[in-house]
Amino acid sequence: MENQEKKIEILKKILDESNYTVVIGGSGMMEECGYKGIKTPERAYEIERRYGISPEDIFTSVFYNNRTAQFFEFYRNEMLMNPPEPTESAYAAAKMEQAGKLQCIIDGNIFEQPQRGGCRNVIPLHGSIYRNACPHCRKTYSMEYVRDSGKIPRCEDCGRVIRPGVMFFGEMMDSTLMSEATRQIESAEVLLLLGTSMDSDVFSKYVKYFDGGKLVIIHKNHHDLDEKADLVILDEPKNVLSKLGY
Ligand SMILES: [Zn+2]
Repeated sequence: MENQEKKIEILKKILDESNYTVVIGGSGMMEECGYKGIKTPERAYEIERRYGISPEDIFTSVFYNNRTAQFFEFYRNEMLMNPPEPTESAYAAAKMEQAGKLQCIIDGNIFEQPQRGGCRNVIPLHGSIYRNACPHCRKTYSMEYVRDSGKIPRCEDCGRVIRPGVMFFGEMMDSTLMSEATRQIESAEVLLLLGTSMDSDVFSKYVKYFDGGKLVIIHKNHHDLDEKADLVILDEPKNVLSKLGY
């Protein structure tokens, strides 16, 4: 543990010396409040048992387009009913932002934990369950509207099926968000990876744009990327960020 304290001190020094710090948040960020994503083995098994189809197959545009009622049954029950709450990480990140020590958060999750914890400059790379829109007239709808409207949520104005504001499996990433994320990483002096997931390619995909001074990784388990980092802290981000004292 003494080692851990020393590492937190080093991290604090790195952040204090940086003029532009960017965070990338992975699935570990939603898991640190006890939430299990639909791809985790336990949830995936449970979903397959309940709906007769895997999360990878049900959370797709093909399923959304062709089996719309079933899609929304799944989406409502599994993703909208108990979204993960912001953790100490989100609150600590908001304080870092206010102190001018964090310039941008690139969020790989879809639950707006950083924003709900008070962060302002967030790029929701994979969309958000809270921002939904009619694909026809572009009218926007809240998460509650989608969650609470019968079988299939429809646009009040034109009757079209509302499109959830999230990226489905196999879909292309929004190119505007992607180039904004790339631009942020290119500007970063310090890149802080939080809660990296083992199977995510988001990290390797984006880290290559980083040309700044220090790469810092904070996550629970070892990852191949650790070798490239200047500092690795093996812990949940909330345990580390809350100790920085911003
Ligand atoms: Zn409409």
